[in-house]
Amino acid sequence: MEKKLKGLLAKLYRKNFLEKPELLYLLENITYRDAGLLFAYARKTRVKTYQRKVYLRSVVEFSNHCRNNCWYCGIRRENKKVERYRLPPETILACCASAYQAGYRTIVLQSGEDEFYTAAVLADLIQTIKREYPGMAVTLSIGEASREKYYRLYQAGADRFLLRHETIATDLYERYHPGMNLQQRLQCLKELKEIGFQTGAGFIVGLPGQTNEILAEELLFLTEFSPDMVGIGPLIPHPETPLGKSPAGSVEKTVILLALIRLLLPEVLLPVTTAVNTLDKYGWEKGLAAGANVIMPVVSPAECRRKYEIYKNKAGVDYAALPEIKKRVENAGFELDMSRGDHCKRLRPAAII
Ligand code: SAH
Repeated sequence: MEKKLKGLLAKLYRKNFLEKPELLYLLENITYRDAGLLFAYARKTRVKTYQRKVYLRSVVEFSNHCRNNCWYCGIRRENKKVERYRLPPETILACCASAYQAGYRTIVLQSGEDEFYTAAVLADLIQTIKREYPGMAVTLSIGEASREKYYRLYQAGADRFLLRHETIATDLYERYHPGMNLQQRLQCLKELKEIGFQTGAGFIVGLPGQTNEILAEELLFLTEFSPDMVGIGPLIPHPETPLGKSPAGSVEKTVILLALIRLLLPEVLLPVTTAVNTLDKYGWEKGLAAGANVIMPVVSPAECRRKYEIYKNKAGVDYAALPEIKKRVENAGFELDMSRGDHCKRLRPAAII
């Protein structure tokens, strides 16, 4: 590896910061085969903050109805070929029971933007989960909503919220999210953080038009916003969407970005996302080796997994797969930690309206 690259990596490891031209230089010049030093620094950094622990989240996809029309997403409003479904609260609770019994202590409730689930319905569901399954952390991934709705969900007991900003480049954001706007998305993120949620941002890797310069801006935005969690994943083109014929995002690039994010945000909760695991059967191992510390198996009922088709052939497991997951994590040199897996610095703060 050339001297300049080595120097930049050492500086990044030491300072957990680089200027934009330096990040751009890394993005332009590091190849996956040559990234051993980057990954080693990222692992050392995660060991300092989270030791060798890997946290687990169980993802339940409870509705694929969506009012939005994102160009990459298979459950976009205009895809008439998806069979739409909504799980009733009883079924969501049954998923929760199975997850709890299997030993999971975080449930991620994910859906399209579906106004059927009002603040009242969700608050009731969250309260029931908190009452029936003590010690279970609740993460929401349900898209944009008013500050008031977010606040009610936090008051009901939800702990975390994932809302990827998807891309920090305004022109790309507007092109791929008709009728939506980046400022509003960022405003939601800001409000979630202010209310008190452990908050997750993140972007898609490999959107057509995404340059290394944009990726450097993504990294700078994350450094500045400093979310508690970051979810990134490669684009997986879905045939029934406008990006259906675009090439898939690169797993290798995603893994390099995971390592850079770990170094810029040493304390962040950083999952190897399902998209990585879908494109590469060693996705978890590669992500963990590059500084990721969370895996998020999709444990929705098989029927939902099939219909929650943000892209095709999404990887999923059932509750019984836990020993197998444990083995994979251990073979990769890490240990499965079945606690809630909160951000290392964040307790649950009182909500701010
Ligand atoms: N409606 C929620 C959840 C969306 S699904 C929300 O807006 O947050 C979760 C994530 O899947 C999205 O944020 C997006 O980044 C990702 N995603 C959707 N379609 C995808 C595709 N075809 N390839 C890769 N990632 C995709």
